[in-house]
Amino acid sequence: MAIPRFAFHNSYARLPERFYARLAPTPVRAPKLIAVNADLARELGLDPAELESPEGVEVLAGNRVPQGAAPLAQAYAGHQFGGWVPQLGDGRAILLGEVLDVHGARRDIQLKGAGRTPYSRNGDGRAWLGPVLREYLVSEAMHHLGVPTTRALAAVSTGESVYRESELPGAVLTRVAASHIRVGTFQFFAARDDREALETLCQHVIERHYPHANGPLELLGAVCEAQGRLVSHWLAVGFIHGVMNTDNTALSGETIDYGPCAFLDRYHPDIVFSSIDMRGRYAYANQPQVMLWNLAQLATALLPIVGPDRDAAVEAATAVLHGYPAVQEAQWLVRFRAKLGFRTAHDTDRATIDALLHVMAAQEADFTRVFRGLVEGSARGEFKRDPEAFDRWVADWRRRLAEEGTSAAEARAVMAAANPAFIPRNHRIEQAIEAAVAGNFAPFERLANVLRRPYTDQPEHAELQNAPRANEEVEATFCGT
Ligand code: AMP
Ligand code: MG
Repeated sequence: MAIPRFAFHNSYARLPERFYARLAPTPVRAPKLIAVNADLARELGLDPAELESPEGVEVLAGNRVPQGAAPLAQAYAGHQFGGWVPQLGDGRAILLGEVLDVHGARRDIQLKGAGRTPYSRNGDGRAWLGPVLREYLVSEAMHHLGVPTTRALAAVSTGESVYRESELPGAVLTRVAASHIRVGTFQFFAARDDREALETLCQHVIERHYPHANGPLELLGAVCEAQGRLVSHWLAVGFIHGVMNTDNTALSGETIDYGPCAFLDRYHPDIVFSSIDMRGRYAYANQPQVMLWNLAQLATALLPIVGPDRDAAVEAATAVLHGYPAVQEAQWLVRFRAKLGFRTAHDTDRATIDALLHVMAAQEADFTRVFRGLVEGSARGEFKRDPEAFDRWVADWRRRLAEEGTSAAEARAVMAAANPAFIPRNHRIEQAIEAAVAGNFAPFERLANVLRRPYTDQPEHAELQNAPRANEEVEATFCGT
């Protein structure tokens, strides 16, 4: 079997030297295949069988650098939980290069867990199996739910141990992204008063992601729009990113850096899973506001290249940021209207949606089961404490559907495409990881497979729709470090 042929077409590696550190992945002892995402491989013009071959696994583990790669670790900075960190960068990831996929779109191929880099600080540059499987499952589930996201091309185990609180099996994830350029990448150069680099990066991002944007302000506007859409989409599927630092906010508008992320089981706007989010900064319903804060940091970083007059630049950038809430709110309404089966817009929609969320929060009803239950007529069963409160809301909802002339069947069709039956529930991910650590990958494979069709009823997997039992409930999720 031949070595996988990536048709590399690198552009980031041609940017100035101060954008990155060139280095190859650090080889691992005994690489073994866990999973190759065959559909994504084909989309990238790769032969899945080649990736699965021993030579392919060596590439996916970082033991062999494929022809045409220009491996490097990217430099960036960022605000972590609001605190400024002037130097971050890929501490455990190596960008192999970029390929043009079958649609002509440029995609980064990155190995995560590939060894130490000049940006590793005190880290070991490695990842353990848990976060690798978690990112594989959740990022792929997000994609199949329709949410813009980085993808997972492959996972391999390394045959080496990594040491966290205990000794754990090491693994490497192959991540695919439109790019890995972050708000923190701009901040890195802004903090160094490097106008030339800001200009270069701005041009690079425009060419790559927003070819119609003219200059930094239009770029900012395009990113505000993409992120407003993205955050609304997160809310609609019950996703909590968990660590929305500016270095984890991509310019492309893709969800990136799946660490202590989670999907809601029971609904409450203040829910936090991330073990490192002590004050609820990144709670479910805070995400739109936090994204605006992150976009304001992007705006600040762009100021030096907006124009020579600082005050005028601030005013212009502020005006662009003011466009974000409207986009975000409008997109939220689009998504939640569909979740209720509405086909037209009405002034009262926000109140109708909020009223349901309020009843759900008061009774800690399961987010996914309630909305899917509206499709199937089983939602009432999720309101155990006070089903009449739900009945009162249903009466309003039915009236609203009747007013716009939407039949029950039509509403069901709209809702079935907006309300997933299956999400990667935290307890199922934990169970899959636990089994994998013990050498059994069947639960991981089953979950990955079911989540490829989240809007399709799969009666043989109905138990994966269940909310966690009390003893299964996951209270905290952890980052991969
Ligand atoms: P994250 O919280 O995963 O976004 O990571 C924040 C920063 O820490 C990034 O610059 C990572 O590359 C770096 N980092 C995380 N884990 C490790 C590790 N095990 N070794 C080295 N650097 C790491
Ligand atoms: Mg990160």
